[in-house]
Amino acid sequence: MDLLEYQGKQFFKGFGIPVSDGRAVDNVEEAVAAAETVGYPVVVKAQVHVGGRGKAGGVKLANNADEVRLHAGNILGLDIKGHIVRIIWVEHASDIAQEYYASFTLDRSAKKHLGMLSAQGGVEIETVAEEDPDAIAKIWIDPVDGLSEAACRGWVKAANLDPAAEDGAVDILLKLYNAYTDGDADLVEINPLIVKTDGAVHALDAKVTLDNNAEFRHEWGDYALTQVRDEREEAAHQKGLQYVGLEGYVGIIANGAGLAMSTLDVVNQVGGEAANFLDIGGGANADVMAGALEVINGDERVKSIFINIFGGITRGEEVANGIVEALGRVDIGAPIVIRLDGTNADEGRQILEPHLSDKLQSQPTMLEAARKAVELAGGTPR
Ligand code: GDP
Ligand code: MN
Repeated sequence: MDLLEYQGKQFFKGFGIPVSDGRAVDNVEEAVAAAETVGYPVVVKAQVHVGGRGKAGGVKLANNADEVRLHAGNILGLDIKGHIVRIIWVEHASDIAQEYYASFTLDRSAKKHLGMLSAQGGVEIETVAEEDPDAIAKIWIDPVDGLSEAACRGWVKAANLDPAAEDGAVDILLKLYNAYTDGDADLVEINPLIVKTDGAVHALDAKVTLDNNAEFRHEWGDYALTQVRDEREEAAHQKGLQYVGLEGYVGIIANGAGLAMSTLDVVNQVGGEAANFLDIGGGANADVMAGALEVINGDERVKSIFINIFGGITRGEEVANGIVEALGRVDIGAPIVIRLDGTNADEGRQILEPHLSDKLQSQPTMLEAARKAVELAGGTPR
């Protein structure tokens, strides 16, 4: 779950990280009232789930009520990279002496947490990584050991920050690591992490991604309200399906997450591109199958559908009956290829047999089915 900046700052505040006083509002008059409360000068900031707001005109300084009116009016409704601004955050402006970058995320291949710190903040970190990779100090942290103060200090020294900011930076980074681990985040990023003209180190921006699997141990209800999902994912989620939208053109339905992932791999292997990941789970009955087909059918990217079922506890004839019944309920646009194997696969194939046509084909193996799906989508399988 991705947080908006103001929610990220609320999250940070809970871990003792200094952020500016501000208010989230959705109209111009409330923006003015917020500015009067937090005190001028203020910054008016677009709240969208995308970075680079400053460049897009979504971050403006205001010294009085007229300027707040002007900027709030311009920013509300603004389209920033396809995200329409509905909420703005008005915070007391900071006097900036330095802009740094700091983040923690998971390095899966190293099986460690990765901290990144740079004296070149404010700008896009991807640009820094490309043009001056040495300007980013990295630290890999064993999650069992955690981040010690000594290790943190060494990391800060390696980043060549202003020596006067060292203590303040160490303090914030230890708190940020805490927020990242105890707060169950997958990513915490402060860009810019600023040194104010009075020397205080302070979080001027907040980017936080929370780990949805940990939701049960937290009170994240308010954060969930502002989430914008992919429309296809929303529809699938409401049907209780495990679905991830992708950019390709072969719609995929499989039973079991492992099989669904292998199906993506095989489609890629034969030169195709999957439109989605969809795991219908164990009981592939008609309701579940119809729901899955409806979701995939609603995706205009999909040019063919690959149903890949390996019967285990779920028996082949049940799945076949489910597919036949679902096809009677949902009018499918794209041609379907089915690979049915495992428990009672023969019985299942017999049930499908009378229903086979150009629009509904069966293939004996996963590889052949993947090739057929790519071919039916107009591609040339390898
Ligand atoms: P982003 O562009 O979406 O990353 O939005 P940020 O919150 O990082 O703001 C972009 C830039 O606006 C920052 O890098 C600062 O240079 C500037 N900015 C934001 N808040 C303040 C502030 O309180 N005072 C000053 N002087 N500049 C600010
Ligand atoms: Mn930023």
